Amino acid sequence: MGRLLCFTIQRLMHAPRHQEKSRPAVVYLDNNATTCVAPEVFEAMVPFLTEYYGNPSSAYSFGKLVEGHLAEAREKVAALLGATAKEIIFTSCGTESDNMAIWSALQTTGKRHIVTTQVEHSAIMNQTDLLERMGFGVTRLPVAADGTLSLADVENAIRDDTAIVSIMWANNETGVLFPVEEIATLVKKKRLASCDPKKGPFFHTDAVQTPGKIDLRHVASSDIDFLSISGHKLHAPKGVGVLYAKKRTKVVPYVVGGGQERGKRGGTENVASIVGLGRAAELALEKLSDEQTRVRAMRDLFEEALLARLPHIYINGKRDQRLPNTTNIAFDFVEAEAILLKLDLNGICASSGSACTTGSLDPSHVLSAMGLTPARARSCVRFSFSHYNTEADIEFALKVIPPMIEGLRAMSPLNADHPDNFAYDVEAAREKEEKLMAETMAAINE
Ligand code: PLP
Repeated sequence: MGRLLCFTIQRLMHAPRHQEKSRPAVVYLDNNATTCVAPEVFEAMVPFLTEYYGNPSSAYSFGKLVEGHLAEAREKVAALLGATAKEIIFTSCGTESDNMAIWSALQTTGKRHIVTTQVEHSAIMNQTDLLERMGFGVTRLPVAADGTLSLADVENAIRDDTAIVSIMWANNETGVLFPVEEIATLVKKKRLASCDPKKGPFFHTDAVQTPGKIDLRHVASSDIDFLSISGHKLHAPKGVGVLYAKKRTKVVPYVVGGGQERGKRGGTENVASIVGLGRAAELALEKLSDEQTRVRAMRDLFEEALLARLPHIYINGKRDQRLPNTTNIAFDFVEAEAILLKLDLNGICASSGSACTTGSLDPSHVLSAMGLTPARARSCVRFSFSHYNTEADIEFALKVIPPMIEGLRAMSPLNADHPDNFAYDVEAAREKEEKLMAETMAAINE
């Protein structure tokens, strides 16, 4: 029964990928928003949704068996960070892990100041906004035009009453990497120099975008105190996360309830998803070199091809200090919303800003912090790749995007005042785009 269910769901899940069509049904270039569940992950999870449904906290052997698999998954996730199983706390998502790290540090230190940046994910932004309304102090550090952060700014922002410094490892919108290990060392130095090192400050990094994209196996030997991971960004399911808390770092539960997770996080563990996350962590390590070579090459080729084809486009963020899978591109004189709509009609998934802020009319807070004008910030699209993308995906996207942008620019009132004014033949651009759309629809319906 379990095997049949697994087989059927797998057939359904992966049907589009195995179709011999002229192009895949969906070209998914939004892997920073979420990722597909790897078939190996799904396979590992199924027994825990069917046969092995015992509660890992139960005393009988049917529960103990499940507890054993939970322990195994914990070891696998720990290996991703070069850590020990005791340093891994399973949560429900990256957001909970982020919230928990900050909450815990405020509780254990009794201090009331947080240092963070202006470009964090809403998981940190909105929590710190809330804490500020509750009377806590928050310093939000600016970034430079290329999205990078000044270490001196971090050092200067730390005060005697700072409980925690929370700075993301990789930006979800631009892929820009912050030197978090150096920052962690700086925070530790400040802590050791303080009159009571037990009272912080501690260092947390939201590393949700990093597993499988950069090597994290040195985390445990670094000075990072807390680190957040989310399952659905590394080909595990949605609804499972991890908070790494360094050995001997005191943790106060954020979700209060039973004594699960050694008293650090109440609530019966999401066993199937945790087992899936364990398998995903193994795969992330196995495929790390693919991400850093093939995926990076795909991203670079995509960028270079667009830069060669289209004038007035700009890559946001320091190009040699980014995740290998992410590109964020400003297409001047066009609204990102129009681009995304057209991409969607062509079966291409991409996004502007983070999935958590989609629908907002405000320009991205990340791009605004980098100093982009509101008009340029509203023209930016993020494409994020994974090792499930193929050369055919990129080829198709490159066929679609340039004429689409030209067509949109031709119709855009935004370019009317520009000295180039593109001097497009509006009718020709429209015709070209209509022809492309017809070809695409024919290929889909084939
Ligand atoms: N932090 C970053 C950098 C993210 O990109 C995301 C998700 O987009 C999160 C936190 C939130 O993770 P989750 O969706 O698991 O709550």
